[in-house]
Amino acid sequence: MVLLDTAAKAVYTLPPDKLAKAIHLYHARTLAHFGDTAWMILALWLLVRSGVGARIRDWAEKCSGRAWVQGLIVGPAWLLILSLLGLPVAVLMHRVNLEYGISVEGWGMWLGDIAKSLGLTLVFGTLMLGVLYALMRHSKRWWLWLWLLALPVEVLGVYAVPVFIDPLFDHFSPLAQADPALAGNLERVTERGGLSIPPSRMFVMDASQKFTAPNAYVTGFGASKRVVVWDTTIQHVPTDEILAVYGHEQGHYVLEHIQKGLEFSAAMMLVFFWIGYRAMGWMVRRYGDAWKIRAVGDWASLGLLLLVVTVLSFVAEPIGNAFSRWEEHAADVYGQEVIHGLVPDAQATTVRSFQRLGEMWLDDPSPNRFVVFWTYSHPPTASRLESAVHYDPWRNGESPKYLTK
Ligand SMILES: [Zn+2]
Repeated sequence: MVLLDTAAKAVYTLPPDKLAKAIHLYHARTLAHFGDTAWMILALWLLVRSGVGARIRDWAEKCSGRAWVQGLIVGPAWLLILSLLGLPVAVLMHRVNLEYGISVEGWGMWLGDIAKSLGLTLVFGTLMLGVLYALMRHSKRWWLWLWLLALPVEVLGVYAVPVFIDPLFDHFSPLAQADPALAGNLERVTERGGLSIPPSRMFVMDASQKFTAPNAYVTGFGASKRVVVWDTTIQHVPTDEILAVYGHEQGHYVLEHIQKGLEFSAAMMLVFFWIGYRAMGWMVRRYGDAWKIRAVGDWASLGLLLLVVTVLSFVAEPIGNAFSRWEEHAADVYGQEVIHGLVPDAQATTVRSFQRLGEMWLDDPSPNRFVVFWTYSHPPTASRLESAVHYDPWRNGESPKYLTK
């Protein structure tokens, strides 16, 4: 830990051994991220060009004349190809995370998680592709119908994930039972924020069987909205700093970030679905004969669709991340405000918590600006800590940004 004589002097720093690890980890992650995307695009492009899509379609057509039955073959086939293509980088990154002590999840459990994700992808992915291709076959404006359908599906997804999907991977228990003292302390933060998050919406996740570092997050929608604190947080972080971490999460809750995220992604989807529609139409017109794709709604186009989605997702990444970093910064400010008066020095506590979290997650103190712009969902730890150091409206007699009371 870096001892702070005055908070104003604080910067995020790591001792030499951790710094070396953090830099290596940062390089590995960056390489894995961009390398994986490049590899996916290259592999899908080669598969599309070689006419694999048409071969899978022909095979499906031999099995059944019905398009939706064909989808039960073509959909899983391509989803499986996509998962297999992503496996090498996933394996490498798990190895790196184990080596650096970020992860402690054994290979057996890790493979189990991968298998479960694959199962979910096959079931829900095949279903969604079936609907999409039916829309493509029946309407020229399929992208707009898809968008209209995607909105309720996304809301339903955000609602259902913490209730039905997350428990498949991790164990959750009510925080009030696991740590009544902490639940009581967190209640002080909710009261200070003038809101009532019932204790039934606070959960502890048994993360320590997989990870070593602390974390907390807000998830769900409507009746499933909840705050989750990893047990690693309770084990390694002093109570004052847990309040800071929790204050940040409460910021997401109070500032309605899940709702804003849904609105933002709806706007993004509208634009990107249209671009996808135009790109698909153009590619099929231009290369359809060469790749034996009869029309956009032909099951032979699925590989091409996945290629277009991969490219567009990569392009959309910095936009989504800029939005996310903006939300994260707002939650940081709120977090510091909400613990003001509850802990002896809200600023110093917030600064210490960033230092501790950064150290435990081995966050690089000076990541490249472009990498941050493209891939970081949170501002880098160094700038979060710096913002906390400079945010002190109370000292200057100004009113706080969010909590004016
Ligand atoms: Zn956050």
